[in-house]
Amino acid sequence: MSKLLKFVMPFALCCAPVSAQDARPENTSVTFTKLSKSVYLLEGTGGNIAASIGPDGVVLVDSDYAAANSQVMAALAKADVASTTIRYVFNTHYHLDHSDGNAPFARIGATVIAHENVRSRHIKGAAVKVGPFLQAIPPYSPTALPTLTFNKSISLHFNADEIRAEHYSATHTDGDIVVSFREAKVVHMGDIFVRYGFPFIDVPAGGTIDGMISTCEQVLAYAPEGAFIIPGHGEVAEAKDLKEYIDMLKGTRAAVLRAQQQHMSLEQMQRARILSRWEKRYSNQYINADTFIEYIVASVAR
Ligand SMILES: [Zn+2]
Repeated sequence: MSKLLKFVMPFALCCAPVSAQDARPENTSVTFTKLSKSVYLLEGTGGNIAASIGPDGVVLVDSDYAAANSQVMAALAKADVASTTIRYVFNTHYHLDHSDGNAPFARIGATVIAHENVRSRHIKGAAVKVGPFLQAIPPYSPTALPTLTFNKSISLHFNADEIRAEHYSATHTDGDIVVSFREAKVVHMGDIFVRYGFPFIDVPAGGTIDGMISTCEQVLAYAPEGAFIIPGHGEVAEAKDLKEYIDMLKGTRAAVLRAQQQHMSLEQMQRARILSRWEKRYSNQYINADTFIEYIVASVAR
């Protein structure tokens, strides 16, 4: 599978213009990569999963689609440790491709942890518009809901590591967290950082480009030398990749602000292709330059 296809596929399945039920894949495979003594990366059909695996059991960051559950479990069983009991599952945010798999993990005893806004959005359900596509997220069943919620940050002291989740408001949504494995030097950024191109910003759910930029800058400042930075989708990154992504976010935001100072309307900005400099590298079939201009304009207005 080409790199591009691999980046785009999870998103395609997340956001295809079909019912949420249909959007959940029937067949998928999960790859398993060791990043440090205790932290692994699982790449399935939905968002990337980070796993701390060791004597205390397993902590997962994100739960992929429910349909990927048996493949995720099979991948975890490959870890050369005595216990693969799943104790905790974080949701980096409320979108299906990061949290649809909650229920099967909860059923085997895992506690699902998320920011309080994730639980409220799961209770209500949502219709998420990604570029031209609309995906319905039905209200979650009680079993699938996060049962441990927090407002600012929470730490698990687990497998000889501190696994710290911090909330960053108004980023990809209003409920995103960044999870750091302090000893292992691994950071999972959820969809605040993605590698398929222009990112999706869920503005109706409280997302803003300013929050994305400031969060990425904060992570870049505190991520230790040589840290593995896990994006919501795509390959594991290092500091220089995150820096490049920040430059794109800042550059595109500045281009929109300049156009606004010249009193250009949204349509005029799109017609003038003010993001043409970034289009070749970042435009994708879900978020093209026109849609990204829309996200920036809507964010800045907020
Ligand atoms: Zn997302």
